[in-house]
Amino acid sequence: MSDSFCALDIRSGNGFDVHRLEIGEGLWICGIFIPCALNAIGHSDADVALHALTDALLGAACAGDIGTHFPPTDSQWHRASSHIFLDFAHAKIKEAGGRINHVDLTILAEHPKISPYRAEMTKKLSELLGLDTRRINIKATTTEKLGFIGRSEGIAAFATATVSFGDTA
Ligand code: MG
Repeated sequence: MSDSFCALDIRSGNGFDVHRLEIGEGLWICGIFIPCALNAIGHSDADVALHALTDALLGAACAGDIGTHFPPTDSQWHRASSHIFLDFAHAKIKEAGGRINHVDLTILAEHPKISPYRAEMTKKLSELLGLDTRRINIKATTTEKLGFIGRSEGIAAFATATVSFGDTA
């Protein structure tokens, strides 16, 4: 059965990730190191935003999830920079004939405050994805001190990616 059912083939993918926090000297978010009194625990660099975005891109490409491609049991990903995962997912998009139209991220954290770093994060994502900054949106919210995020025991991120396929114009 052909899957060419529509000339305008636009797909969206979503991603979600959580990392545990501990006392530390800073953490990676969106490819930016933010110095603060916390550290994100993870097998790789524990960049929660890039992990959520990687899953969103894999979702749009119908290419599985980050844990399947980069299992935490594999020692080669220990302390790996998460742009490796993002590049892999972007390659899956391109292999399938896709082009990213837009990405939207929501970071949930009590600490650190994201807004001072938003412009730098947007620029970094623009570089990593080869995407105009006007097609990238980064939002942040607290959870009003509720739950594990509110207690700064963890950080979470949601991502949505919109990708067009078969449109090479
Ligand atoms: Mg993760």
